[in-house]
Amino acid sequence: MAVSSGTAALHAAMNAAGIGPKDRVIVPAITFVATANTVVYQGGTPVFADVEPDTLLLDPADVEERITPETKAIALVDYGGQPCDYGSFRDLAESHGLTLIADSCHALGAEYRGKRVGSLADLTVFSFHPAKHVTTGEGGMVVTEDARAAKQMRVFRNHGITSDQRERLEARTWRYELVDLGHNLRITDFQCALGLSQLRRLPKMLEQRREIAKWYDEALGNLPGISPLTVKTDISHAYHLYVVRVEAGSAKRQEVFDFLARKGIGANVHYIPVHLQPFYQELFGTGLGLCPNAEAAYEQILTLPLFPRMSVSDVDYVVDSLRKAVASS
Ligand SMILES: *Cc1c(COP(=O)(O)O)cnc(C)c1O
Repeated sequence: MAVSSGTAALHAAMNAAGIGPKDRVIVPAITFVATANTVVYQGGTPVFADVEPDTLLLDPADVEERITPETKAIALVDYGGQPCDYGSFRDLAESHGLTLIADSCHALGAEYRGKRVGSLADLTVFSFHPAKHVTTGEGGMVVTEDARAAKQMRVFRNHGITSDQRERLEARTWRYELVDLGHNLRITDFQCALGLSQLRRLPKMLEQRREIAKWYDEALGNLPGISPLTVKTDISHAYHLYVVRVEAGSAKRQEVFDFLARKGIGANVHYIPVHLQPFYQELFGTGLGLCPNAEAAYEQILTLPLFPRMSVSDVDYVVDSLRKAVASS
């Protein structure tokens, strides 16, 4: 079910999961704001859960503690391109009667225990923003095996109207029914054409990203003060992001970020914990102390450049600059 952005896809998924006022959806504290915002679009309340300190993936044990009778769904995030612990989340969703939504915007092509992301949750969301693996300029998609949910999302992306222009043409009728309040979340044909040609390049791009990550792993192995996030053994990583911790903490991380910027290296930080954003603090009363692992990680994390055309010498330049930045005081 293709739409105009990853955010639109999340919005449609929240609608298909039946999220409405009084409903709660558990989301990770470390994600892009859209994971939580789309719960609020539906009138629901995002409940922030903590991440595992070593992977920054949503922690199933912490999620379980935050489930209440109002909880309707879990929206996990395959942070950086590493799949979450789907086995545990499936069990949790089944035992509590929750919908499992995967925000897999980072993880197109990733695998969990030999199964592709997209086949593991009730609803899986991808983004085709230019920063993601496959782009349509702007675009997104929900994949699901649930025919009822698919139908509802197709209505939702088309204003809440039960038939689209083509269906009316085929049925030789002008009649349509507005059955729900939807939005215009449609994607255009020329964006889809771009997406299809991009998709053919996905296997190659994944291979390149994994190769670059391996170079980073090797080069960073003997760099004290910098530690990459942990990669689990039962998954295949899609490497949307390569994230390290600057162990000395936030002042040093700022220095390293500035030093790299002066060297022409665009590092970044993914993400400021969403529960610390003013909107959530003011409207939902969230704040410091809610998700300690996420807050501690935020003091240290730094995303290094990673794009398919990067060469070994680009990686060496980044790591060499990192070494100098860590050594300087
Ligand atoms: C990119 C992204 C989104 C939003 O996708 P857009 O296509 O930019 O709307 C949502 N969640 C995560 C985790 C993302 O990385």
